[in-house]
Amino acid sequence: MPYSTCTEPRSPSGQQWDYLAITQFIFFHLGCLFVFSAGISWVAVSTCLIFYCLRIFAIGGGYHRYFAHRSFKTSRVFQFVLAFLGTLAYQKGPLWWTAIHRYHHLHADTEDDIHSPVRDGFWWSHCGWIFSLRNRETNEKMVANFKQYSELRLLDNFYPLPPLILAASLYLLGVMLERFIPDLHTSGVQMLIWGFFISTALVHHAVYSVNSIAHSFGSRRFDTPDKSRNNILVALLTFGEGWHNNHHHYQRSARQGFYWWEIDITHYVLKCLSYLGVIWDLQAPSERVYQVAPFHKTVDQALPLSASEELMP
Ligand SMILES: [Zn+2]
Ligand SMILES: [Zn+2]
Repeated sequence: MPYSTCTEPRSPSGQQWDYLAITQFIFFHLGCLFVFSAGISWVAVSTCLIFYCLRIFAIGGGYHRYFAHRSFKTSRVFQFVLAFLGTLAYQKGPLWWTAIHRYHHLHADTEDDIHSPVRDGFWWSHCGWIFSLRNRETNEKMVANFKQYSELRLLDNFYPLPPLILAASLYLLGVMLERFIPDLHTSGVQMLIWGFFISTALVHHAVYSVNSIAHSFGSRRFDTPDKSRNNILVALLTFGEGWHNNHHHYQRSARQGFYWWEIDITHYVLKCLSYLGVIWDLQAPSERVYQVAPFHKTVDQALPLSASEELMP
């Protein structure tokens, strides 16, 4: 059912459930439990961390800051690279993710918000909303500016393929390592569990925490109309996405930690990529944002663009 014409409720009550999404969620978490039989090794844990970091950056820097907010520009090739890496996180395709997120900004913490902890509770905002059938399809109207890119549409339609290829590759790598470098004490199953299942579950909950924790706990520098918060724990786990009150105030910025002490690893990586010429035109907070920031003035005095102007193509 097209999102824009769906009249089912957004809140937990009266939902039609997406049993495919529920099954996938349970499958990922049950898969992690196999760690007790697969065991542990340095190479497996390192692989888990590498794919955590890579995919957290792909979601934060790619899906969020590039696709949802156009906070920098890049070539069509690197746009595809960002989309592909984001798809490896198994959070559906770039167009679906972008549409959901743009809708969140337009209706944050109102009754139309898809995942508001204020209105519908912590766990609904964390992961419950994913199980709602009404959130399954891509809202085409929200991603009209990416319509012409057939390669993005392809990724959206076949989003399970890249992560499944990653899972199979990690398993094969583990089998090879076990055979040719037995001193590493790993195996195909161990690399699959650590590199894919545990790493993916960690990425999911880190990203979910932006919607749940960063709309519930933390400080508010800006008096935004929503309940967004700056939360350092979420910022560290998500490489900068936890400066969520900053972000809701000035969504277009490629930098979400507005000050040097607000650690924003995604921004540091984006800066490096801009020095290499891979991306360019990184958006930064305007002077007006800094002028009003320490004084907690009202949002109307600081917003350079309306939410709809910023978000819609
Ligand atoms: Zn938010
Ligand atoms: Zn956003």
